[in-house]
Amino acid sequence: FNIKIDDLELQDELGRGAYGSVRKAKHRSTGVVMAIKEIRLELDKTKLSGIAMELDILHRAVKPQIVEFYGAFFVEGCIFYCMEFMDAGSLDKLYSPTFGVPEKILAFVTRNLIIGLQFLKDELQIIHRDVKPTNVLVNRRGKVKICDFGVSGQLEKSLAKTNIGCQSYMAPERIQSPDSGVHASFYTVSSDVWSLGLTMVECARGEYPYSFSNVLAQLQEIVKGPPPSLPSNYSDTAKDFIHSTLRKDPNARPQYQELLDHPFLTYDEEPDVLKWIEDALRAKHGEWQRYQRSIRLRAVFSD
Ligand code: ATP
Ligand code: MG
Repeated sequence: FNIKIDDLELQDELGRGAYGSVRKAKHRSTGVVMAIKEIRLELDKTKLSGIAMELDILHRAVKPQIVEFYGAFFVEGCIFYCMEFMDAGSLDKLYSPTFGVPEKILAFVTRNLIIGLQFLKDELQIIHRDVKPTNVLVNRRGKVKICDFGVSGQLEKSLAKTNIGCQSYMAPERIQSPDSGVHASFYTVSSDVWSLGLTMVECARGEYPYSFSNVLAQLQEIVKGPPPSLPSNYSDTAKDFIHSTLRKDPNARPQYQELLDHPFLTYDEEPDVLKWIEDALRAKHGEWQRYQRSIRLRAVFSD
């Protein structure tokens, strides 16, 4: 359906990214609760309508493993991108350094992610280009879905100028092309496989696996250093799977179908995903409360 700004009752902010904020909103006439991403772009009318046309392909990205797209509209140089609201948030809200994602759940999440990525590639010829924990969303019915994939070249170009994150999920070949050392312009599906592997390691460890305060040192380590790996308590099957996704040579990384056929993902017993989500949300909430308390205590003592 066609959405306009006046149809929406804007609610809490769900998060903030490098390009704008995401807010919960209710569509007044239908009562549908959605997430609205607002991206500020100083572009002229023709560029904006170009982006709108490119975004249209999203209406064809209908799959249980992909966050549903409801539509987009423009107000004063901003894009408002409307999508399905995922009430357990992004993956990064479901782990911490004290509790990583357990192996069986990790396999479940990975399987869903790959099914989504494979669909994008095979049915829509789309490479995701931004696989990372904040772009994997979960809801309390136990569904895991991907979002924020690169459908609009025009939009990508307008965003690229400001983009330099402090945690990189870029594959080594994207960071450094062998001849020039500058950002590689080519991008293949195997670069997404690397980002997927890195995302999985982060989930298991509960934190981003590269630890460098400075961005350049971190990028250097991704290119030159050994790839990160799972904690020692994960099975050899899981380690073998992750290891294959994080090969430095992009051509040596498996294709999606090979990954789906790997013993790590061909389990027959479904894990208790609902319980994991509730436990993880509660644990994260507890950590947040303890943190707030420590801030209050510190304030009391410094008075
Ligand atoms: P980056 O800007 O580097 O891509 P990001 O993915 O965190 O980082 P956004 O895509 O703007 O940035 O999203 C901000 C946050 O909003 C996310 O981390 C996620 O927690 C939350 N979020 C995004 N989309 C939804 C959604 N559909 N439902 C619920 N929460 C969402
Ligand atoms: Mg995102």
